[in-house]
Amino acid sequence: AAVDDVGWKQLERLVAEAVLRFDPERAEAERQRVSDHRHFDIDEPSDTGHVVIHGLMDAADGHDLDEAVTRRAILLGKCGDDSSMDVRRSKAAAELARQDLSLDLLFADSETGEVIATAPGRKVTLNVHVTDATLTGDNPVARCEETGGPVLASQVKEWLQAPRTTVIVRPVIDLADCVPVDSYEIPDRHRARVQLRDHTCRFPGCTVKATRCDLDHSVEHARGGPTCPCNLVPLCRRHHRAKTFSLWRYVTVQPGHYLWLSPNGRHFLVSPKGTKVLATSRRLDPDDY
Ligand SMILES: [Zn+2]
Ligand SMILES: [Zn+2]
Repeated sequence: AAVDDVGWKQLERLVAEAVLRFDPERAEAERQRVSDHRHFDIDEPSDTGHVVIHGLMDAADGHDLDEAVTRRAILLGKCGDDSSMDVRRSKAAAELARQDLSLDLLFADSETGEVIATAPGRKVTLNVHVTDATLTGDNPVARCEETGGPVLASQVKEWLQAPRTTVIVRPVIDLADCVPVDSYEIPDRHRARVQLRDHTCRFPGCTVKATRCDLDHSVEHARGGPTCPCNLVPLCRRHHRAKTFSLWRYVTVQPGHYLWLSPNGRHFLVSPKGTKVLATSRRLDPDDY
């Protein structure tokens, strides 16, 4: 009889468990509860330079991850990695991550050539001047706008690979480059180019940042002036008005170099080196150019 009692109690518990298990609402609530605890953590590196990873994921996600890691671990083995399957699985997970990063790197805007590596977290815009020679290794030095100094091509490559960072590398800024478009509207890539060439408003002595300026068509669009970096000049709102509504005039001597004529006949040469007052008795009329 005693054995029967225990049997009944056990049976009751199993039935209760079964009811719970097959009570869809209860089960769903429980699934939600556990789902809310999903996480994926990578601990701080240990003294030996390793990290412990632990997490909780949806079973299907876990299955996919397992499949991917296994497939890659097997591939590593076929490629001659003779470490154990466990070790290869660990390496494989890291490779998956790196592949994801490099996939991001492959994203290049076909129109501008701008390469964007995206990841959540920090966002850094580096205007790095590189040339074909930099990329082929003939000239290992690029120049970084933000730091103002030269940087090694290898450093640029490292930046591109830095995780948790969004890096935008603008391609070769060839200031002589002519890339006119038909429209009057100025594409962003032209804007960027002009702002890198002319850091501030190009009115004599003005220091308003080019990024806050209008871009003026040096030769009016209506008079055949192209929408092209060579014909676009940053002018702050005030000086844009001065050029449009007063007798101040200028001519682009060459991109980045402007000759201004004031209403009272004085001449100023504005170039990347700054503003120079030209002492000349001869009246240089921009219209002569
Ligand atoms: Zn042009
Ligand atoms: Zn200005």
